[in-house]
Amino acid sequence: MRMNSLHRREFLTLTGLAGAGMAGSGLAALALGSTKARAASLPSAPAEGDAHRGPCAIASGNCDPGVAKAYEMVMSGFDPADAVVAAVKFNEDDPNDQSVGLGGLPNEEGIVELDASVMHGPTHKAGSVASIRNIKNPAAVALEVLRKTDHVMIVGEGALKFALRMGFKEENLLTEKSRQAWVQWRANLNKDDKWLDDDQQIQPVGGKKVSAIEKSLMFTWGTVHCSALTPAGDMAACTSTSGLSWKIPGRIGDSPIVGAGMYCDNNVGCAGATGRGESMIVNCGSYAIVQNMERGMTPSEACAAFLNKLCDHTKEKHLRDAKGRPNFNVSVYALRKDGAYGGACIHPGGSYAVADGTAANAKNLRIVACTPLFND
Ligand code: ASP
Repeated sequence: MRMNSLHRREFLTLTGLAGAGMAGSGLAALALGSTKARAASLPSAPAEGDAHRGPCAIASGNCDPGVAKAYEMVMSGFDPADAVVAAVKFNEDDPNDQSVGLGGLPNEEGIVELDASVMHGPTHKAGSVASIRNIKNPAAVALEVLRKTDHVMIVGEGALKFALRMGFKEENLLTEKSRQAWVQWRANLNKDDKWLDDDQQIQPVGGKKVSAIEKSLMFTWGTVHCSALTPAGDMAACTSTSGLSWKIPGRIGDSPIVGAGMYCDNNVGCAGATGRGESMIVNCGSYAIVQNMERGMTPSEACAAFLNKLCDHTKEKHLRDAKGRPNFNVSVYALRKDGAYGGACIHPGGSYAVADGTAANAKNLRIVACTPLFND
C-alpha cells in the first residue's frame, strides 16, 4: 500500500531525515519527497543497472534493434543526438509498429499525427515537432529544429512545411492494418450512430474475421524512447510516438514536450517515458526524474520515487481502479551521467532495452523488466 501525505510527513519526522544536507546518499534520496510505500517499493539491494558504469544506451523495450545501433554509434564517435534519433528510426520506419511513425494508429478522424522530441546534452538544446502529418520520421525533423533553428517546438502545418523545406518526403502514414483498426474502433464507438457495430455488419462470404487483438484496440498508447551516453560523458535523449490512438485531432502527448516525455541534463542524466502522456505532462515527469537523480537518487530510485508522486497526483475518479490506484500504466527510464541506469512502471508489464557491449547475444542488447510500483 502506498502512503498518503500525512504519513509521509510522519515518516520524515520519525526518521529525522527531513532536514537539509542529506543529498548524496541513497537514504537521503528516499527522504527527499519520499514516502514509506516508495521505500517499500524500492529494491533492498541496488538494482543491477544502478551499479553499471560507462557508456551505454537505454531505451523503451520496443527499441530493438535501435538501442544497439545507438550504442554502436556513440562508441564510434557519433554525436549522441544522432545516435538516439537513429535508434527510434527503426520503429518509425516499421509499418508493423502501430505506436510510432509509419503505421501508427490514427486520430479519431483516421489521420496519423506524430509527436517527437530530442534533447542534446552538450548544448542543452532541444528540438520538437508535434501533431505532424505525412512525415514518418518526426524525430529526425525534431533534430533539424534543434540544429537549424532558434526554436524548440514546431507543430501541425508549420511542422510539415518545415520538414518539407528540410527535404523530408511526404507520404501516407496510414497502413491498411491501422486503417482497419480505426474502422473497427469507429464502428463500435456509438451504438446509435449510423456505423454498424461488429455484430450488425454483413460479412462478405469468405471475408476476414476481426481478430481479438483488433477488437481490443479501444484506446492504446505506445511510444519509443532512447537515451545514450558517450565514452566522453555526453548525453542525448529522444522520444517519438503516434500518441494516443483515436485522439482528438491536434491532441499532443508528452513525447514532444521537453521535460515531460524526455529530458537531458548533460551534468546529471537523461530520462524518458512511455504510457499515458497526460500524466507525464502534469507531473513534468522526465524533468522530475532527472531532478531526483541530481538530489542523489540512483536511476531506479529516481524512477520509482517519481511514479509514486504521479500516483499521489492521480486524483480523478475515472483514472483510478477499485483500489484507488491509477488504472493506466506509465513506464519511465533513466540514465545517469556515470552510466548507471534503471526503469520503473506503475503496473507490471513495462520493460526497457539496454546496450552496453556486454549482451551475450547477436542483438547486442538486453531486455530488462521495469520494476513495478504495484505487483497487482
Ligand atoms: N506517451 C504517449 C502519449 O501520450 C503514448 C505512449 O507512450 O503510449 O502520446
